[in-house]
Amino acid sequence: MTAREIIQKKRDGKNLTESEINFFIHAYLRGEIADYQMSALLMAVYFQGMSFDETVTLTRIMRDSGEVVDFSHLSGIKVDKHSTGGVGDKVSLILAPLVAAAGVYVPMISGRGLGHTGGTLDKLESIPGFKTRLPLSRFKKQVEETGACLIGQSEKICPADRRIYALRDATATVQSIPLICGSILSKKLAEGIEALVLDVKVGNGAIFEDSATAEELAEHLIRTAAAFNLNTVALLTDMSQPLGVAVGNWLEVCEAIEILKGGGPEDTKQVTLALGAIMLQLAGKIKDLRSGMAHLRALLENGAAWQKFLEIVRAQEGEVTFLENPDQYPAPKHRLEMKAGEAGFVAAINAREIGRLCMLLGAGRQAVDDTIDYTAGMLMHKKIGDPVHPGETLITLQNSGRAPDNDFQQMVHTCFSIRSQPATPPKLLQKLFDARGVHFITEID
Ligand code: URA
Repeated sequence: MTAREIIQKKRDGKNLTESEINFFIHAYLRGEIADYQMSALLMAVYFQGMSFDETVTLTRIMRDSGEVVDFSHLSGIKVDKHSTGGVGDKVSLILAPLVAAAGVYVPMISGRGLGHTGGTLDKLESIPGFKTRLPLSRFKKQVEETGACLIGQSEKICPADRRIYALRDATATVQSIPLICGSILSKKLAEGIEALVLDVKVGNGAIFEDSATAEELAEHLIRTAAAFNLNTVALLTDMSQPLGVAVGNWLEVCEAIEILKGGGPEDTKQVTLALGAIMLQLAGKIKDLRSGMAHLRALLENGAAWQKFLEIVRAQEGEVTFLENPDQYPAPKHRLEMKAGEAGFVAAINAREIGRLCMLLGAGRQAVDDTIDYTAGMLMHKKIGDPVHPGETLITLQNSGRAPDNDFQQMVHTCFSIRSQPATPPKLLQKLFDARGVHFITEID
């Protein structure tokens, strides 16, 4: 079989066999199939899709492209969380230490920024010294001793996702349900977990803007995970505006610090507590989500989650002085407050465009090897439903590269729709999916 024949088969809408998928992925990892051929296959999958069996096979082959960690010697159910990606989504930074502080092991393999969305690894690497590439032996030891460790895919663990993820970003093939299932679940299955919560974002800043496709993604993820006996729950959460206040790596770490110390924006906290409570439930630690949320809130308020975060950062060689004194972090060269010109209410915010503009400010990569300006990002002073008066600050921009010019500022302004009629903020926690079906989550509203 040749790469060309396999590409052609998928291009023509036929199902690939296990040996064809296996050949393609492994030959690609050995450097025998070029990026342009893998890109062509990804585009063929994007247009033709994959059957359920193909998706499961792809996921298994991607998982087995590296080591699968074994944590069976640790007592208790190991649980992780993954988000399909959003703007201002710093939840993993708070959730991993929080759930570990509640006594549950959280081995977490995360990704980098993808398109307009940020990535947990980039946020963590904004902490000077923090290492996201650790030998597997250290990853295992840290999970055993600290309860949580956050790393990226590597040559040792999920190398297929590491290579394909970056290529999908560069070839506009991110929005494909089978490719997302393969990418997310291969990483998560390689961690040696028994349960998983997925934060499936919906709205203009999410991978899929419309509810129908986001729900289809949630259902596919649950079904595919079930084929591996991975007990999975998906929470559909709003991404029609950035989550919280901060967008951009170090700014998001600062928001995470505020929440870990018991303060911070309510929306970020709400999503974190809901996902955390589901994790505790999956681990069999609580009787219902409401009591789980109350327990986790107490761990934010009594400093236990913050201390656990410092422990994790120290273990991964991050300089905690910057976390304890964020004012000592290098200041951005440029800071600009953008004011409202008219009175009214914020009716909508274009989260996708905010994410894209943050990337252009330096917070993300346009090309795979671009370096990141960790000081770059935006602070949202107004969210959907907020009243606005002329001269009030809508948003602050900051970075250390080229200062945002007038055209750029104009693009930021057009991200806000201000109307004279009051607007209702979107529902943050929308629906919960598990192997039994869809649930409306009045319990944790
Ligand atoms: N997150 C991932 O890890 N992979 C995707 O494909 C999308 C979101």
